[in-house]
Amino acid sequence: MGRSRSTRIARLGCTAWDEVLVPSLTYIATANAVRYMGGEPVFVDVDPHTWCISPSGLEQAITPKTKGIIAVHLYGHPADMDAINKVAAAHGLWVVRTPPEAHFARYKGRLVGGLADIATFSFYGNKIIASGEGGAGHVERSIPCAPYKHARGQGMDLARPILFSDHCYNYRLTNIAAALLCAQLERAQEIISRRQAVFDFYRKRLDGIPGLSFSQ
Ligand SMILES: *Cc1c(COP(=O)(O)O)cnc(C)c1O
Repeated sequence: MGRSRSTRIARLGCTAWDEVLVPSLTYIATANAVRYMGGEPVFVDVDPHTWCISPSGLEQAITPKTKGIIAVHLYGHPADMDAINKVAAAHGLWVVRTPPEAHFARYKGRLVGGLADIATFSFYGNKIIASGEGGAGHVERSIPCAPYKHARGQGMDLARPILFSDHCYNYRLTNIAAALLCAQLERAQEIISRRQAVFDFYRKRLDGIPGLSFSQ
């Protein structure tokens, strides 16, 4: 295991045997991020309306070993961040929010990008905005981003690029993927409108069927 991810999560305060609360409905990457550190992912049930981690389930899952929460905005639905941040603040936990599928989603009018200490985006091919592979991180203003830049490039010292002061992997997005991403971002509105039209198509035909509900 390289120390780059370890270093990153360690800065949020997760070391071996610490517990991190993650949603029970998500992609494996959420739990893997915790396991990279040797921490224990603790699965918390999801809310039936948002399909995201349930704020009421969080309280019950917290133990003295709990260090943080990873909230995932699944399928474009924002998790209830106010409630999640409130629980986190009451228990001194950090919050990482991953909206891999919720680019441009809004929670109470705010873009979901800035609602946690750290946020991660995926641009994998099946996401709303895609570059084939790659991703991006968003760090809250009060958290220094230098450690993340350092971890991104195989531990290269940012001030002295001939020194490698840590043992890290290469997490850089390629220039070619970045160029694709820029072109996709220019088309964001068109891509989102098309998705909305597909959603409306299904809603029109499925609405009113007992047992089915729509959250949007
Ligand atoms: C797509 C996705 C990921 C994986 O993103 P990568 O770019 O492969 O790291 C992780 N979690 C969720 C919920 C996803 O939808």
